[in-house]
Amino acid sequence: MSISKSHVGGKDNPLMQYVLNHSLREHPVLKSLRLRTMQDSGNLMMVACEQAQFMANLAKLIQAKKALEIGVYTGYNTLNMALSLPEDGAVVACDISEEYTNIGKPFWKEAGVEHKIDLRIQPALQTLDELLSSGQAETFDFVFIDADKVNYDNYYEKSLLLLRKGGIVAIDNVLWNGRVLNPSPNDADTVAIDKLNKKLHRDIRVTLSMLTVGDGLTLAVKL
Ligand code: SAM
Ligand code: CA
Repeated sequence: MSISKSHVGGKDNPLMQYVLNHSLREHPVLKSLRLRTMQDSGNLMMVACEQAQFMANLAKLIQAKKALEIGVYTGYNTLNMALSLPEDGAVVACDISEEYTNIGKPFWKEAGVEHKIDLRIQPALQTLDELLSSGQAETFDFVFIDADKVNYDNYYEKSLLLLRKGGIVAIDNVLWNGRVLNPSPNDADTVAIDKLNKKLHRDIRVTLSMLTVGDGLTLAVKL
């Protein structure tokens, strides 16, 4: 297979291409959704496919049933997660854009997992508050944070409340294309990511790994 996007280490990186050629197991509908997403002008927002596969593996490892995706875009990761959850599992998928999520919906249906995806179109903070106020604290197994960066800390705090002990929160783009090395005070996204990275380093409520996969992925396991 050939994947041409640079952020998945595609054609410009032979070793990364080797990794993909020798490990990517992409469901055919997931592949169709990736190819459809590549036609969209916002396609750089899509998660790296090997990263999505890794997170689905993690979800399996902890026998996840209930997942939360904060920032869906066309739903590549949402679909992958729904495919890997058991039949009685579910993904609550948060986004503000019907334009983006409508691209993914037919693929979710084609893959036969539409019933496992609970899409909520409104600001994600509102959805997280609704989940908390409807008694769903400590019921989620896996959270993927990948929406607006200025709200990352809010998403993290609410996710910790929603996660059960031993649940995982995965935070995307924690290296922000290297900009975290020298955050400009005027760059609110970078400042927010860097601040959360520093906070997480000393957060004793979780165990921690910061991985250099994709654009940087932090894994925090709730103690
Ligand atoms: N996780 C996706 C994937 O696997 O391909 C990529 C998500 S993309 C980087 C970020 C998404 O966050 C966009 O679809 C955008 O519409 C959404 N978003 C931005 N602000 C938001 C907010 N306040 N609440 C919910 N979603 C938001
Ligand atoms: Ca991302």
